[in-house]
Amino acid sequence: MQELMDRICRDGQALSEHVLLVDSFLNHQVDPVLMQHIGQDFANRFAGRGISRVATIEASGIAPAAMTALALGVPLVVMKKATSAIMNNDVLLTTPVHSFTKNIDYMLMCKKAFLPEGENVLFIDDFLANGEAGLGAARLIEEAGCTVAGIGIVIEKSFQEGRSKLCEAGYDVYSLARIAKMGEGVIEFAVDC
Ligand code: 5GP
Repeated sequence: MQELMDRICRDGQALSEHVLLVDSFLNHQVDPVLMQHIGQDFANRFAGRGISRVATIEASGIAPAAMTALALGVPLVVMKKATSAIMNNDVLLTTPVHSFTKNIDYMLMCKKAFLPEGENVLFIDDFLANGEAGLGAARLIEEAGCTVAGIGIVIEKSFQEGRSKLCEAGYDVYSLARIAKMGEGVIEFAVDC
């Protein structure tokens, strides 16, 4: 997606060879017009698949996933990173996930009621690095008796192993921008984006 790649070049900052800061338009300050275009692109790519829900992980996935759900006309389910007392009486689905940015394990959780059996779910996330978030989300979706219709990623770091892990597990992964290499002052995209 050229508009996104241009924005990454203009406002993205490689903090290291592995971490890209895009907090001025994607996950801290959010550009709603860009998010709308991102949502429409995902909706076009996954149109005709009978998608009945979009799912994401709090908090950085919410903006692009909400716009995708709006474009597809389906509900958005936000998987949570911690339990809360007000959810104690609900049936919860949980799975452990290793966080790439925080280097800790957390429990990913979702109320079963928001993933009723038989739903066809599109998972959207802001980044794909080692694939732990995507695999964890897919586990929850499948444990709920739902199908993973596809995985949409805003920024894929193609030099990390996430894409190959998700593809080996059989998921259809679509990324709007694929970064082949990063370093101080350098962001190179994979040729096929
Ligand atoms: P994975 O589970 O694929 O290793 O990492 C994906 C998650 O880690 C994403 O949900 C995202 O929040 C975070 N993440 C991974 N790499 C980056 C990065 O370079 N920059 C930012 N801002 N977040 C990242």
